[in-house]
Formats: sequence, structure tokens, C-alpha cells
Amino acid sequence: MSAARTAAIQLIARKSPVAIGTLPQHLPATFGANVFGLEQMRTRLPESAYKALRSCMEHGQELDHALADQVANAMKEWAVERGATHFTHWFQPMTGSTAEKHDSFASLEGGKLLMEFSGKALIKGEPDASSFPSGGLRATFEARGYTAWDPTSPAFLRETTNGSTLCVPTAFCSWTGEALDEKTPLLRSSEALSREAVRLLRLLGDERVQYVYPTLGVEQEYFLIDRDLYFLRPDLVATGRTLFGAKPPKGQELEDHYFGSIQPRVLAFMQEVELELWKLGVPVKTRHNEVAPSQYELAPIFERTTVAVDHNMLVMEVMKQVAQKHGFQCLLHEKPYAGINGSGKHNNWSMSTDVGENLLEPGRSPEQNMRFMVMLAAVMRAVDTHADLLRTTIAHAGNDHRLGANEAPPAILSIYLGEQLTDVVDALIAGTGRGSERRRDTMRLGVSVLPPLPRDATDRNRTSPFAFTGNKFEFRAVGSSQACGRPNAVLNTIIADALAHIAGEIEKTKAQKGLEAAVNDVVVELFKKHQRILFNGNGYSAEWHQEAHKRGLPNFRNAVDAIANFGTRKNVDLFERFGVLSSKEVESRMNILFEAYSKAIAIEGQSALSIARTMILPAAQRSQLAVAQSVGAAKACGLDVKVQEKRLRDFTARIEAFVGGIEELTAQFEHAEQHAGSPGEHAKTYRDKVVPAMGKLREIADGLETMVDDAEWPLPKYREILFLQ
Ligand code: ADP
Ligand code: MG
Repeated sequence: MSAARTAAIQLIARKSPVAIGTLPQHLPATFGANVFGLEQMRTRLPESAYKALRSCMEHGQELDHALADQVANAMKEWAVERGATHFTHWFQPMTGSTAEKHDSFASLEGGKLLMEFSGKALIKGEPDASSFPSGGLRATFEARGYTAWDPTSPAFLRETTNGSTLCVPTAFCSWTGEALDEKTPLLRSSEALSREAVRLLRLLGDERVQYVYPTLGVEQEYFLIDRDLYFLRPDLVATGRTLFGAKPPKGQELEDHYFGSIQPRVLAFMQEVELELWKLGVPVKTRHNEVAPSQYELAPIFERTTVAVDHNMLVMEVMKQVAQKHGFQCLLHEKPYAGINGSGKHNNWSMSTDVGENLLEPGRSPEQNMRFMVMLAAVMRAVDTHADLLRTTIAHAGNDHRLGANEAPPAILSIYLGEQLTDVVDALIAGTGRGSERRRDTMRLGVSVLPPLPRDATDRNRTSPFAFTGNKFEFRAVGSSQACGRPNAVLNTIIADALAHIAGEIEKTKAQKGLEAAVNDVVVELFKKHQRILFNGNGYSAEWHQEAHKRGLPNFRNAVDAIANFGTRKNVDLFERFGVLSSKEVESRMNILFEAYSKAIAIEGQSALSIARTMILPAAQRSQLAVAQSVGAAKACGLDVKVQEKRLRDFTARIEAFVGGIEELTAQFEHAEQHAGSPGEHAKTYRDKVVPAMGKLREIADGLETMVDDAEWPLPKYREILFLQ
């Protein structure tokens, strides 16, 4: 074993779980302790101000200046009491992560330092936006943008070793009003969804509901690797995934990791993550070992989507930071290791009304039953009509390793309903048949009651990208490293579109047919039209790929093909119709997606080349030299070394091939660098030239790893990084 690897492993062998310090005695008091939430608002604001603020929060409205001053002051007092010196607007530019720029509360008055936070500073910030991706929306000379508080998401305190910072979740726009972030379209889409859902509910006779909001619970998968090994892997450091690494003797085949007992150092890490997140008001609920070795999952209780998206950003941030303290690196990449499962993010999505009903809860009464079937029809129409668009929201270089590989949902979008619900859909369709075709088990909406649906985990189909799981849909194709803003903004928009369609149809025919028949007809028509999107079988199977092709379902096999659909006429029209994105915003976002892909592959290419040239090749040559010297010496003594010579020849041929692979990747990489073209063309070049060359180089390197003297091999091996904790 190489000296560096040996040293790292000796360190790991001596590590033990890191203690948090004093544990909180009472979880309910700890939960949300670092959030300026309703309780703080109620106790610190005059009653009228509290009421006005609550209304703004619930309806996502802007605060007026007088109210903003009151809120800002109360927030500052609260934060300063808890040791905060600085505040920041906390936003989500289109980089996939969050951004912050801290300012202290300090202001000078007559040479004295005062702690101040104005309403103006609370509701608007002005970061220099020139270095954030804008996809061409904003020329650098007019680079200023502004951030605006999203009152649906509460402010929180981030406690770090040497102080606390007040974070105000904000949206980020250009001065001309274009969205430069992931939050703005999410907020716009939530409004559109609420508008169309309320319109439809009114038609169905609901007079109570004032607004509807999407709900989200994000199951987050991740890997942990010991930091002492992590730092010996420049590929992991630069790209988040291993670009080389031969298959270890043991992988995940024993299936002994999933739900296995949690290793003490890992559990200590999880416990600290949970404590930090509870303080931040993130309702973390579940922890467990995942399928692959050193892979884990965290899941919270679902919340309103705008908050849940922010909370998932915090989950990722806190996991990464706490991991360091425990001597781990938290890997959020979709595929850190070849040959074992990658990581995803299950996006559990539903819609809730302001009176607390889940619109995807199957009904117990005929009215509820009708409402549920309408919502189901809406989801079927949305996913079938806009499968291409939904696919773009999960399209990035990292997720290409997952989607379509036999461990993650396929790149083809389909909906799993389970047998019972599928039978109900079939029966409703059959109910429109005439005469002898009419089946005995037909049902009508608004009259029949749904048969009880099982909500049993065993019934779930893990191969479906979009599965109904009892009272919510689970979009399982989202990548583990992704921000959830975009998938949910698109989900909300396509559902709003479907709800608007249904409402429009009912409005047209209600007077003539009566409500029940009008609803029944549109629902059954949608079931018929979009039945092709339903699939309960094995999404990994080759038959499904053929069947999906026959049904005409799109299959965008890689990110670049998928991203190209983002800006089609259909999709631009949709975004514009619901005020979610303008055509300019759509185009800029598509460019950013392409550029992000190209950059990710470029970094991987560079990283692979540098490791190949400066680490693997020298190691292989040193090993070759030793073998050659040994064979030469033995031969000089007149010994028979035919088999060893053959092995030396084989080894040399592999090294030759490896050098060839380096030259090939260098050439393809240079070609891609020089042939930019449009962002889409550039991304295609990276996909078609650099990705295959990297794959070839890896294959040869992984072969060499099994032959080179272990003492020479510079990179920690899979057997080490996956199992040593
Ligand atoms: P699993 O899918 O692993 O069996 P659960 O049924 O516990 O797990 O749910 C997974 C996630 O779905 C959790 O985060 C949970 O809070 C969330 N969830 C449950 N109901 C809803 C809902 N109505 N809307 C959004 N998410 C929900
Ligand atoms: Mg799940």
C-alpha cells in the first residue's frame, strides 16, 4: 500500500465518534430555536403588525415599508440577543447552490456604533450580480440585481464557530425584473397553481378554499467518505465523483448495507446534522443506511414547497459542514462510484388547501372522490403532455450516470398508479362504453365511492420515475445534488396548466350537462387520452423501452438531448401563459443548463487527464520498471522466465494503450475547447467527444489498477473508500 494511503488508514483506525457537547434536553424547545418564526413574530410584534405579516406570508404578498421597518427591527433584536452580528440575504442563483453576502448590523452615529437593520435592508438587497450565471440575460455593464425577501420562508440564524448570521431567504432578480434565480419561478408557479386550483375547486362546488399550495417532502440520499482518504482523490475533490477506480472484491452484492445498523461515527454525524437542522426548523424525521456501502438517506416531514425547497438547500449545506467536523466528506454527486448505486432525491409532491386538505387524498365521500379523480386526471395530463419539459428539470451531467442505468428510474417518464387505482381508471373508461360493452364494475364520479386503496410500502414500484404513493406523487428521478426549485416550479406549472384545461372544459359544458356529467366527461376523456403514460411494470426492463417507444413516449437518453426541449415553442407558451418565465428567461435558462453541462464535463476531462498523466502513468511505469528489472536479472541467471515475460508484455501493452488513451482524451478535449459554437452545440461536442474518451481511459486505468504494485498505486482504492470509516 502506498505511504499516503497507509497513513490515511492508520488515522482512520484511531478515529471515534465525535461528541456534540451538551445535548438538548427537550426537542420541542430546540425545534426552530434559530428561526424567526410565528412564535417570535407574535411575541415581538404589535398585534396588528403580526396579523399583517401573517397575511403577507400566507399569500406571498409584499410588505409595505412601515411594516417592513417593524419586522426588521424585531428580527434584529431577536438575532442580536442570540449573538448575531451580521445579516445576509440568502438566495439561490442558477448555480445549483445558495449564495450569501454578509453585512454587519453596525452603523455609526456620532462616533458610536449602533446595531441597526432597516425595513429597506430586510426587503431588498443589492448584490453585484455580474458573476452569477445569467445565460446572457444581463450584460455585465448593467450587472446589478436585487434580492427581495420571500415572506413565505422565515428568516433563520446560522450559528458557526465564531458567531451567528441572520439569513433572510430571498428571490434574486435583475433590475429589469427578470428572474436570475430558482426561487422566483417557484414562487410564480405556486401562485399559478393556487389560482387554477381554486378556480377548479369553485366549479366543483367548494366555496371555502381561498388558496392552494404545493407540498414537498424531499428524501435525500448521500455518501460519506473519510476525509483523509477523500483528500487523496483529486477527482473527488474537483468533480465530486471518482473518475477512476477498479471494482472492489465486495460491492453492494450482499445487500447488507440497506437498513443495516448504523456505524457509530456515522450515527454521531447524523445526530449532529439533525440537531442543527431541528434548530433551523427543518423537520427531519428519518435516517437510514441506503443500498450502496457508505450510502445514507435523510428525510424530513413534508412542508409547503417554497419552504421545503429552502430547507433542502439547508439540509445539503448542513450535511456538508457537519461532515467535516466528523472527519467525513459528504458526497452529494449522483454517481460518486461506478458499479454501485448512485444517489437521488425523491421529490414527494402534493397539493394542500388553506383549510388543511390534501388534494391527492383519495376520497371517502362521492364529492371527495370526484375531486380526487379530477386531480388524478390533471396529473396524468400534465405528465403526459409535458414529459419532455419535466425531463429537462432533471437533466445534468451528474444525473446522466443514473437515469437509464438499472438502479434509478429510466429516462422515460411514466406514472405508476398501482393495480387498484389503475383498475378504477380502467373502469371509468369502460363506463363510457355502450350496451354490451358496459362492464359491471363501472363507476361514475360524484356517485360512486372509491374502493379502499392500499397504502402499503410493499406495493410500491421502485422503478417508476413518477409514482403515486397513497396520497402524493413521488418524482424519483431528481438527482441528489440538485436544488429542488426547478423540478417543482415545472411540476407546479404543468399541473396549473392541466387544472386550467379541466376548469375550462367544465365551464363550457356545465350549464348544459350538469356538473356531474361535465366533470365525468372531461375526466374520462383525459384518462383515455393519457392512459399511455400509466405503467405499473418494471421500468428497468428492455420490454418497457420497446413498449414506451410504441406508445410514443419520449425517451431523452442524456442531458444534452433533454435540455434542448426546454425552449420549444410549446414550453415557452406554457411558461408565458402562467407568468412563470418569459421567453427571454427560458432561453437564458436553457443556455445555463447547456453551459453547466459543458463545464462539468470539461472539469472532469481536465481532472482525468491530470491524474492519468501525473499519478497513474508514473505509478504504472515504476511498477513496469521493477518487473522488467526482476525479469532481466532472473534471465541473466539463466532462469526460465517465459510466463513472466508474457506478463511483462501484457502489462507494457496496457501502459501503451493507456498513453494512447491520454493522447486521445487530450485531442478530444482540445477539440471541444476550440469548437464552441452555440451553448447547445458545445455541450454536444463534450458529450460526443470528451465523455467517450474519458470512459475509454478509465477502462484502461481500472485494468492497470489490478496489476500495478499496490505500494505504487497513488489513489485510495474502492475497497478502502467504500468500507473504511
Ligand atoms: P417512503 O417513500 O420512503 O416510504 P414516506 O411515505 O414516509 O416514505 O414519505 C416520504 C416523504 O414524503 C416524507 O418526506 C413525507 O413527509 C413526504 N410526504 C408525505 N405526505 C406528503 C404530502 N402530502 N405532500 C408532500 N410530501 C409528503
Ligand atoms: Mg419514497
